[in-house]
Amino acid sequence: MAKPPTPPKPRTLAAQALGAVEPVTRAIVPPVHVSTTYLRDPDNAYSSGYVYGRPDNATVRQAEGVLAALEGATAAMLLGSGLSAATAAVMALPEPGHIVASQVMYWAFRDWLVREAPRYGHTVTLVDTTDLAAVRDAVVPGKTRLVWIETPGNPLWTITDIAGVAEIAHAAGARVAVDSTVATPVFSRPLALGADLVMHSATKYLNGHSDVIAGALATRDPDDAWWTRIAELRARLGLILGPFEAWLLLRGLRTLDVRVRAQSESAALLATWLGHHRGIERVRYPGLPHHPGHAIATRQMTGYGAMLSVDVLGGEQAAIAIAVAAAVTLWKRATSLGGVESLIEHRASIEGPGSPCPTNLLRLSVGLEDPEDLYADLDRALGSVAS
Ligand SMILES: *Cc1c(COP(=O)(O)O)cnc(C)c1O
Repeated sequence: MAKPPTPPKPRTLAAQALGAVEPVTRAIVPPVHVSTTYLRDPDNAYSSGYVYGRPDNATVRQAEGVLAALEGATAAMLLGSGLSAATAAVMALPEPGHIVASQVMYWAFRDWLVREAPRYGHTVTLVDTTDLAAVRDAVVPGKTRLVWIETPGNPLWTITDIAGVAEIAHAAGARVAVDSTVATPVFSRPLALGADLVMHSATKYLNGHSDVIAGALATRDPDDAWWTRIAELRARLGLILGPFEAWLLLRGLRTLDVRVRAQSESAALLATWLGHHRGIERVRYPGLPHHPGHAIATRQMTGYGAMLSVDVLGGEQAAIAIAVAAAVTLWKRATSLGGVESLIEHRASIEGPGSPCPTNLLRLSVGLEDPEDLYADLDRALGSVAS
């Protein structure tokens, strides 16, 4: 008797978009379900399970299925942007309360937490979540509702111990959400480490081609009141991802594993090479042994990702770093990350005052180009500024 098939690995499931075949034509590539409304049965029921496009869509569900498989989650939810996913999660908390969040994180969400969350009755404490003692001090048992961490944390790529934070938060009755955008499900599975919610800007690696704005959430427990409230808010506020975007995301997810592994390999090479460059003061990459979060990253991730930052030699002067960014020709001077093309950005210019980002820091999102070409371009740009 033939052995039963072993369950496919996440990479296999994603490559085949869970193996779905369209039943009428047997198309291997699924159609885009654009209909906003669905036929009722004669007895007035909706036997297909679909009623209207604002709460639900079949193409969105397909992409959610793939994402859930990648995260080892029971359910995933797609929203119109990473920021709408993050803010919906906060707004769906059962009651207003205290939120503890990483000091080093995606600046626009940190800004939302500080400026907007108090309008909904929350109080927010920003801490260095890489320091578990600081997290323990910040969390107030019975008052703290949520600990929000981002790891690796943008743009310094600080590493937070997910399991350590989960233990502290849960002991105090708080939930834990992890922005895992930079780690991707290829290198990190926060739910398995104790997180209650995983969030992604699917705009970045999940889609991977800089042509979709999307956000994602994933959970182990789709019956949890927090999760069902997020779904309710998505429907009520109209936050669902559009079907065309969901279809593009589904296509992008098929190659996620190979893209992210190749990009991460190039990032590791660049981190090493740039570490020896005389125009660079410091390389920030969790894959480097001297990175303060290296040991934890090695423990909780299966790869170090494709984001790094460099502090350009010349002290806290923005001008030299900006001049290097101005002198590259291959790297694209643009914000965002996680696409197949490499991007360079003077981050302090974006984040403004209050940012923990050094003024001489350049953020590098490593794409799929040949790493030798990428290094040569940076080397030439650094040389032109030094002379
Ligand atoms: C881009 C980004 C976000 C915001 O996502 P959008 O899709 O732009 O709304 C949140 N977190 C991280 C780490 C990001 O890089």
